[in-house]
Amino acid sequence: MNEYMLRASGLRKTYQNGAAAVEVLRGIDLGVKKEEFLVIQGPSGAGKSTLLHILGGLDEPDGGTVFFEDTDIQSFKENERALFRNRKVGFVFQFYHLLPELSALENVLLPMVLRSWWERPKAESRARSLLERLGLGKRTGHMPNQLSGGEQQRAAIARALINGPRLLLCDEPTGNLDSVNGKNILSLLKQLNKEEKTTMVMVTHDKDITGVADRVVHLRDGVVVR
Ligand code: ADP
Repeated sequence: MNEYMLRASGLRKTYQNGAAAVEVLRGIDLGVKKEEFLVIQGPSGAGKSTLLHILGGLDEPDGGTVFFEDTDIQSFKENERALFRNRKVGFVFQFYHLLPELSALENVLLPMVLRSWWERPKAESRARSLLERLGLGKRTGHMPNQLSGGEQQRAAIARALINGPRLLLCDEPTGNLDSVNGKNILSLLKQLNKEEKTTMVMVTHDKDITGVADRVVHLRDGVVVR
């Protein structure tokens, strides 16, 4: 059995900024085991977000491969890639990216609406129970601007989980929260990792990740240093 959820090898990415080429990833080799909680740290601009986007199929590398279990995600056709992002991976971002004109419940339902089949009552009951589990049972009808930062992030996590992904990619999920709310979000992610067996890859500047991360790797000068 393949013990790896993700295996990246030789990942390279260069951005063209005007006349200057910025080599952001210069040969990343990284494996993430199933059910592992991996934290990626490194200075700002080191390429952490770029790496996360490539691992989740949001962006393409200039070279190298990413295997999700036994599948090379570069081999996906466009519709397969969209399905992969919708079903297998959940994304959590620093600024939540909730749609302001939709309620918490409707935001959480969005990834299900994008599926070819969906039954409103079933989807809604799953969304409600997720929100309940994440402590937002009394906030399902609230609009994002009626929620605190911590609550918005919990709604965003519920949205990331609605299709039951095996892997959650989190980009500075506590970066916009005070320390108490940040800690709550970290322990929530850890709980999901343990109880739902969701594999976690989290980029964070948070120093206090003892008890959360199974492993920490550092990104520096475009490569992974351990
Ligand atoms: P980190 O997440 O570690 O702060 P990023 O992956 O966001 O780093 O960015 C790495 C570098 O790549 C930065 O110098 C950034 O300006 C540059 N970069 C990121 N995305 C783009 C883009 N779409 N176009 C051009 N440059 C980019």
